[in-house]
Amino acid sequence: MSATPDKFTFKVVLLGEGCVGKTSLVLQYCKSQFRDSHDVTLQASFLTKRFNLKNNRVELHIWDTAGQERFHALVPMYYRDAGGVVLVYDITDPVSYQRMQNWLMQIRSLLGPKVPIIIVGNKSDLDRNRKISKEDAQSYATANSALFTEASAKMNSGVEQLFVSLAGAMLKAE
Ligand code: GDP
Ligand code: MG
Repeated sequence: MSATPDKFTFKVVLLGEGCVGKTSLVLQYCKSQFRDSHDVTLQASFLTKRFNLKNNRVELHIWDTAGQERFHALVPMYYRDAGGVVLVYDITDPVSYQRMQNWLMQIRSLLGPKVPIIIVGNKSDLDRNRKISKEDAQSYATANSALFTEASAKMNSGVEQLFVSLAGAMLKAE
């Protein structure tokens, strides 16, 4: 039996309406930081995260948008070679939930039906202002062959788990 783990490197892209918390999720996951301010032009390329999963060494290159979601169109450099997608909406914002569905259609037509996607209802700490039920989002995800979870970048709840779940799906798809 080999004791050397296999190494897998995956490109992961974040998509979703502006202000849903994409940058916040990445910063919380990769740098354990959270900011109350919103900066659309935070980073040009990607942050890296490494961890072990089922005797595999996984390296994620996590690409955050530089605000191009405003144009509702994707540049090829952004999504090319993506192994997985994190599709984010804000549980208090129905428009962001609608837009998430448009992004899902767009990314599936660009990357094909097999690319692992996790839909993330972010800002779960704002439960009292919730507009989208967990059950609705879960059934939408299931009907569209995507994973689903809720998270809070602010409270660091569900953040690591969402990237680990996606990594698990990407390993399976290898
Ligand atoms: P992006 O445009 O999708 O990258 O969104 P940002 O990460 O810039 O976040 C937009 C705003 O939402 C910022 O003011 C964040 O502080 C706030 N935000 C992000 N995540 C959360 C969260 O989980 N809970 C709450 N309450 N606010 C959040
Ligand atoms: Mg951002």
